Amino acid sequence: MIDHTHDVEATSWVADGSGTNDFPIQNLPWGVCSKHGIVVAIGDQAVVLRSALDQNKLQFADDITLALRASDLNDFMSLGQEIWTLVRHALFELLRGEPVPEILCLQSELRLVMPAKIGDYTDFYAARNHATNVGKMFRPDGDPLMPNYLHLPVGYHGRASSVVITGTEITRPHGQLKPDEGDPIFAPCKLLDYELEFGAFIGCGNTMGERITMDDAMEHLFGIVILNDWSARDVQKWEYQPLGPFNAKNFASTISPWIVTIDALAPFRKNGPARLDSDPPLLEYLQPVTEDVLDVNCSVSISSATMRSDDVEATQLTKSSLSNLTWSFAQMLAHHTSTGCPMNSGDLIGSGTISGETKDSRGCLLELTWRGTEPLDLPDGTQRRFLQDGDELTIEAWCESDSATRIGFGSCTGRILPA
Ligand code: CA
Repeated sequence: MIDHTHDVEATSWVADGSGTNDFPIQNLPWGVCSKHGIVVAIGDQAVVLRSALDQNKLQFADDITLALRASDLNDFMSLGQEIWTLVRHALFELLRGEPVPEILCLQSELRLVMPAKIGDYTDFYAARNHATNVGKMFRPDGDPLMPNYLHLPVGYHGRASSVVITGTEITRPHGQLKPDEGDPIFAPCKLLDYELEFGAFIGCGNTMGERITMDDAMEHLFGIVILNDWSARDVQKWEYQPLGPFNAKNFASTISPWIVTIDALAPFRKNGPARLDSDPPLLEYLQPVTEDVLDVNCSVSISSATMRSDDVEATQLTKSSLSNLTWSFAQMLAHHTSTGCPMNSGDLIGSGTISGETKDSRGCLLELTWRGTEPLDLPDGTQRRFLQDGDELTIEAWCESDSATRIGFGSCTGRILPA
């Protein structure tokens, strides 16, 4: 809900906390650092929750205080929408009132770690343009979309243990590869790719046997992060039938460190997702009832080791928007729990690769280079079909509109190490 914390006139006493970067007072995203526990970003600083509580600058009921003193966000996420909003309002007042610089730390001095213990991770396939492009490449003779695609959000159960925080180096995985001619071999992946996605953290879960319906799905989501689902395309091609991706997707997925809350995203929600007149009608349990679409801009850039040593700026690969999804996070959650599958606080659901309609909005190299047949030129004179050792990928994301203050997500970065 839009309230006074989204007021474009609101400013903070924290220098640079008033709309000049990713983290103005209208944003207040949550993270965790190794030394101080839970922190909230403001400008180029962060509020250390333990310090603010120790100095009685924030005062809450015992269960909230205990959750905010923890070393991850799971307990706070489990407290629910009303408490998240209550604490957001208290932080907003604190950062508007009398200056208390002793509760702050410079973000540049923090080592941010995983914001929550992720018990379960599910990745969806929710952008029609991505599914269509992949379908055209792998099944050129038939309908690129499988018959189920427009009836339900397709997903697979991923591997929570391999979700890592931005900056973690990614070692090129080995895998079983099948050459066009001859027997399979075991070797380093040759077709390493990124996937531009967002991940939604579950706040309050559900009891086994109960469903989360579209009516309140958005209230179960705590917030979202940028997600890069690193993918081994040659492993995937050989293994994916009949049960879907396995080792191609289980070696690393990188997230950005600050969770931007659904509360902060209130001015950037839209009705939808849009469907075409020719699309089949949705079953009732998947019909949107609120503004389920989150309008978040995103871009991907790459730098090679040579580019970095020559001080050449990273070059942009992809420009897209989370609003390109065919299925919303609310629909993914309603479908995921439609069997009564229990979700827990801190579970993560990935959107799937976000591709738009234009070539420059394709969300992975597989699509951008059309399976390697249309290589991209980099400023260092080399070409890319897929990622090479030393390549560094950075995804950035932000929201902007005429009627709201711009807010950002920070960035999600990873560098490829040799196998
Ligand atoms: Ca994916």
